[in-house]
Amino acid sequence: MFCYKCGKEARLVDGLCRECYVKEHSLITLETHYPVVICKYCDTYLYDVWRQFSYIEDIIDTILDKAAGKRRIRAVDDFGPPSYDPLQVRYKVIPEKETFVVECEVYGRDDPFSDVAITEDHVFVVEPKYTVCPRCSKKYGGYYEAIFQVRREGRPLTADEAQYFIDEVSSLSDAELEKNEMAFIAKVQTRKEGVDFQMGSLKFTKKLARTLLSRYGGSIGESHRLVGFDRQEGKERHRTTIVYRLSKFEPGQYVFYKGSLWKVANAVDKLSLETFDDAATIDFKKVEKEASEGQLEIVGSEFLRKGLIASFNDGAEVLALDTYETYELEAASVPKGLTQGDQVLFLIKDSRCHVVNP
Ligand SMILES: [Zn+2]
Ligand SMILES: [Zn+2]
Repeated sequence: MFCYKCGKEARLVDGLCRECYVKEHSLITLETHYPVVICKYCDTYLYDVWRQFSYIEDIIDTILDKAAGKRRIRAVDDFGPPSYDPLQVRYKVIPEKETFVVECEVYGRDDPFSDVAITEDHVFVVEPKYTVCPRCSKKYGGYYEAIFQVRREGRPLTADEAQYFIDEVSSLSDAELEKNEMAFIAKVQTRKEGVDFQMGSLKFTKKLARTLLSRYGGSIGESHRLVGFDRQEGKERHRTTIVYRLSKFEPGQYVFYKGSLWKVANAVDKLSLETFDDAATIDFKKVEKEASEGQLEIVGSEFLRKGLIASFNDGAEVLALDTYETYELEAASVPKGLTQGDQVLFLIKDSRCHVVNP
């Protein structure tokens, strides 16, 4: 059989000898020049949609993938047996002053039924065009959707507490940014009463508040404020403020919990109570519940009197240092580790005496 193109006698594929077949068929069509829009602040580039990248090779792989259409591309060091899908690619990137020159060899078959291996050489230029992606333009342009406030019931946050929640909110935002690019914090403002965060996403802000509530108890509030009028959509624009309020418990306070008097040792992630060698830890969900049921209440220090453990019998005897009267401390109300001569604070409640360490 003779090739219809060159007239050579050979085994033919579609009427052509192998040499002519290779000249007539191609594996992939590539442009010579690819301008690529890249964000100058974060590692993303625009190719139909904004995508993440780590190396210029990630962008080149996308260009090759798109050019191959429905077929896949496999970047290899050495070519294996030729296949129709995937096509094998070997390439070298030469960085120029402002561009990248890509020299590539594509290897494979142009048709699933052809047994002719084709090797093609391509050269193309990738030219980065730097811009600011929508996420960064919102982030660095001062855009925010919601205000998130951290407060404490009854008093301002301390500097330590404020820093603790700045760290906590930042780490939750970092984790969420992997899924939601709007979950950024545009600004942190420390105020007299607590901390304010300007948040990129209202949806994330609500999730954040729920996460903190489940970790530290407290309560959540939401309010809306009119900030303008959107002419394009013909409606008012509101800004939402979500306030997360920590409970009123704090270290150094005294509480009456389930029939005993305690001193609050810690109230950040859990409520830790102590009296002499005794300790109790309650998570904040339970704190809210116990407080609402009247099982846990704060005792103002003005109600506590100074005393001394005068003697031990079945329970103990407390000598009041203000009046030198003595009070009977029932055995059930003696904290672990209490010994004779200990200084105590005591409270007479429902005609029973309760003590706590000062
Ligand atoms: Zn031929
Ligand atoms: Zn960006």
